[in-house]
Amino acid sequence: MSQIVWEAIEEKWRKKWEEAHLFEADPDPNRKKCFVTFPYPYMNGPLHLGHGFTATRVDVYARFMRMKGYNTLFPWAWHWTGEPILGASLRIKSGDEDLIRALKEIDGVPEEELKKFVDPIYMASYYTRESREVVKKIGFSVDWRREFHTTSHEPTYSKFIEWQYLTLRDMGYVVRGTHPVVWCPSCQSPTGDHDRLIGEGVFPEEYILIKFIFGDAYLPAATFRPETIFGVTNMFINPDADYVEALVDGEKWIISRSAAFKLSEQLRKVKVLREFKGRELIGKYFKEPISGRELPILPGWFVDPDSATGVVYSVPAHAPADWIALKDLMDKTDLLKGFGLSSEVLRNIKPISLISVEGFGDYPAIEIVEQMGIKDQFDPKLEEATSIIYRKEFHTGVLKPICGEYAGKTIKDVKAQIIEDFKRIGIASSMYDLPQKVVCRCTTKCVVKILSDQWFLKYSDPEWKRLAHEAVSSAKIFPESARSYFHDKIDWLRDWACARKTGLGTPLPWDPEWIIETLS
Ligand SMILES: [Zn+2]
Repeated sequence: MSQIVWEAIEEKWRKKWEEAHLFEADPDPNRKKCFVTFPYPYMNGPLHLGHGFTATRVDVYARFMRMKGYNTLFPWAWHWTGEPILGASLRIKSGDEDLIRALKEIDGVPEEELKKFVDPIYMASYYTRESREVVKKIGFSVDWRREFHTTSHEPTYSKFIEWQYLTLRDMGYVVRGTHPVVWCPSCQSPTGDHDRLIGEGVFPEEYILIKFIFGDAYLPAATFRPETIFGVTNMFINPDADYVEALVDGEKWIISRSAAFKLSEQLRKVKVLREFKGRELIGKYFKEPISGRELPILPGWFVDPDSATGVVYSVPAHAPADWIALKDLMDKTDLLKGFGLSSEVLRNIKPISLISVEGFGDYPAIEIVEQMGIKDQFDPKLEEATSIIYRKEFHTGVLKPICGEYAGKTIKDVKAQIIEDFKRIGIASSMYDLPQKVVCRCTTKCVVKILSDQWFLKYSDPEWKRLAHEAVSSAKIFPESARSYFHDKIDWLRDWACARKTGLGTPLPWDPEWIIETLS
C-alpha cells in the first residue's frame, strides 16, 4: 500500500485555492455580506499555538458562512504598535545575552538576521514574513490582498487611526489633563492593563496623610479614615526598613525611602536630607496635631515601607490590626527593652473609643478580634475583621463627643468635610499609591505618577458610558454570559492615558510628538 503524503495534498490544494482567488471578497450588492476578523498577532516573536487555536475558529466560521452563500471577507493583519518591539530591539543592541539566546534557541532566528534586529522595523518585518508563511501553510481562508500591519510604517492604516482620534477629539472624548496613572519607572511610561504581569484592574488610590508632629519635622501617616485621629494612641514604624528625612515642598517629612521616590513622581519637590533605619525612631514621642497629646512610637514589623509613607498610626479601639499589634508587643518585655521601651509604656496605652456603632460596644476592634479568635498579627482572618469593622463603622458609625465639632455625625456624611478641614488647617495632606502590587511586563514594580498635560480618553464621560452600554445591550454576543463582562468593564473604566512618547505607532495628528497608545 502506498503511503499518503499529506503535505503534498495540502500544498496542491492551497495552490488551487490561490489560483482560483477563492477567498478574495469584493463588494457585491447581490449577496449578503459577512466580515470576520482575528486580533492582530504581535510581531515581537513567532506565532504560537494559541494563535493557531483562535484563528482556526475564525476560519471555520468564515468557511461555514461562505457555504451558506455569504460574501465573506477574512483579512489578516500584524500588530507592530507599542513598546515591546522597540524594547526588544534595544535589548539586542545593548547585547542582552538572555534575550539573544532565547531568540536563537527558541525562535530559531539565524545569526545573520539577528544582527539586523537592532532596527525594530526590521525585527517586526522579519517576524511578519515568517508568520505569513505559517498562516498560509495552515491554509486559513484569508484574502491576502487585504493584509496590512499597524503603525506609521503602514500609511493607510495609520490614516484610519488618525481618523478615529480626530473623530473622538471632535466629540470631546480626547482631553488634555493632569491625572494620576500607574507608571513604570523603567519603561518611563504609563502601564496599561495589557502591559502588566501582576495587578490587572488596579487603580491609583488617594491616601490621606495625617501630619503628626515630630520635633521640627512631620511624620505623615497614611489612612483612609482620617476621623480616627481622635483615637490615636501610638505610632508604628518598621525598625528594619529604610526611612529618610526629606524636604517635601519645603517641609521636613520623615517617610520611607520609597515614599520619597513616589512623592517625587507626584508633582512634589522632594529633596532627601539623610537616610536611616526605622529603629532610630522607636521609643521616641510624637505629637498628635489636634490636641497636642504626646504619644510613643513603637516597633511594627508588619508596616510595609512600600505602602504609602511607611508611617502608620494606631487606633486600637477601632482597627483590629492595631489592637493585635499592641497585644503582640505587650508581653515582649525583652524585645521592648532592646528599643529602650519599658513595658510601662505599653501598659499605659489605653484604647480610645470614638465611634459608636450598631451591634458593638465601645471597642469594636477588640470585640471582633476575640469573636473571630484572631491569634496574632499574622492571622489571615485579620484582613476580614478589618474590612467588617471598616464597612460597619463607615455606614452606621456615629462620632462620639471626643470628636469635637464632628460629634453626632455619621462617618459617611462627615468624612469629606473632615478631609477638607484637615487639609485647610494644614494637618493633612495626601498622596496616591496602589492598593495592590502592580508589576510591569518588563518586571519592574509600578508606582503612581501624576502626569500633567497628558492626553486622556474620557472614559469617565457619563454620556459615553450610556451609549456604550446601549451598544453592548443591542449586540449579539456569544456566549451570552460574556455580556455582563463588557458592561462591568464600561463601568470600571476611568480616564485613560492614550498617548506616550516612545514606541512604534501612529503619531497624534494634532500633537505628533505623542504616539497613540496601543489598545487605548
Ligand atoms: Zn516597564
